[in-house]
Amino acid sequence: MSKISLKNLRHSYQAEPGPDSEWALNEMSVDWSDGGAYALLGPSGCGKTTLLNIISGLIEPSVGEVWFGDENVTQLPPDQRNIAQVFQFPVVYDTMSVYDNLAFPLRNRQVPEPDVDKKVREIAAMLDLSETLMTRAAGLTADGKQKISLGRGLVRSDVNVIMFDEPLTVIDPHLKWILRSKLKELHQRIKTTMIYVTHDQTEALTIADQVVVMQAGTVVQIGTPVELFERPKHTFVGHFIGSPGMNVLPCQLDNGRPVYGGQTLEIASPISQRANGARLELGVRPEFVQLADAGIPVRITKVSDAGRFNIVDTQHGDDSIKLLVPTGETLPAGTAHLKFDPTHTQVYADDWMIS
Ligand code: ATP
Repeated sequence: MSKISLKNLRHSYQAEPGPDSEWALNEMSVDWSDGGAYALLGPSGCGKTTLLNIISGLIEPSVGEVWFGDENVTQLPPDQRNIAQVFQFPVVYDTMSVYDNLAFPLRNRQVPEPDVDKKVREIAAMLDLSETLMTRAAGLTADGKQKISLGRGLVRSDVNVIMFDEPLTVIDPHLKWILRSKLKELHQRIKTTMIYVTHDQTEALTIADQVVVMQAGTVVQIGTPVELFERPKHTFVGHFIGSPGMNVLPCQLDNGRPVYGGQTLEIASPISQRANGARLELGVRPEFVQLADAGIPVRITKVSDAGRFNIVDTQHGDDSIKLLVPTGETLPAGTAHLKFDPTHTQVYADDWMIS
């Protein structure tokens, strides 16, 4: 096992790339600590698979280096990187039994048979495959086959990293929930570095200790689920994480405080940075917007029942602002005033948080 470092990495699929639009990955330097559970989260096309393939060695980066511990592995092919990979679709040997499929990566490495047996049974038990161990893989459903793929990825304890590329896509929704928490539990037991690619925020937040959020080839934030929720460093993180996403509203600055709707708002600590002509916005999540006697005047346009809360859509001029109101709380008719929680109101310059 080892720490993984990406140093000044950049990648383009073109031989002689020019403008930024021709780069699939913009320059990034990222450290993945040994034993960490990471999710790589972002919308389709943002570069997740490209990054994963660079770490596994399937792609050589156009620029920069990949290090496993103190070894530069940039030029090493996948089979010399000592990694395990689980893909979107099952990779199993249909003619072998479930047991032999799970044992395969271990037997390949000449692990003694008693140890193989112990490990295979342990993994099978965790994935509810014990009953089917002697069944041929060919007879299993897509769910069952993907569980074998997960098991094969998890069975070796000597790998540098286990990489999962959207492995629960083919799994039915109910089992998905179960497998997510099993994967988390397994990681806590085996403590191998895990990188889990997904475009599903719930999956990322459930499985990972640290979430690496990507947008258009750029890593925009690396943080715990709580950090991404409470202090999104980029407006994209605010939009992408949370349901509904963060309210992002145009603002100006007055003595380091955001001015919105003609009012100067309090924030945790006034901005000391100069904005230098950047596009300024304030961000506040619907969870941190409240109805108040005075504040930003709004018109209530829609109320949607979301279980314990109502999602209330309001309008101030051209801007829409969402807030969450506990179900049962009486809402004013038509117009209202809003207050933003100062400790959870951030200011952004050209989409990046400033403080
Ligand atoms: P998805 O979730 O849809 O798999 P992703 O986040 O994994 O998307 P990538 O597949 O890494 O994103 O793609 C990043 C960018 O690189 C996209 O613009 C894509 O079109 C481009 N790209 C990916 N693979 C190739 C390739 N083999 N040749 C040329 N361009 C590619």
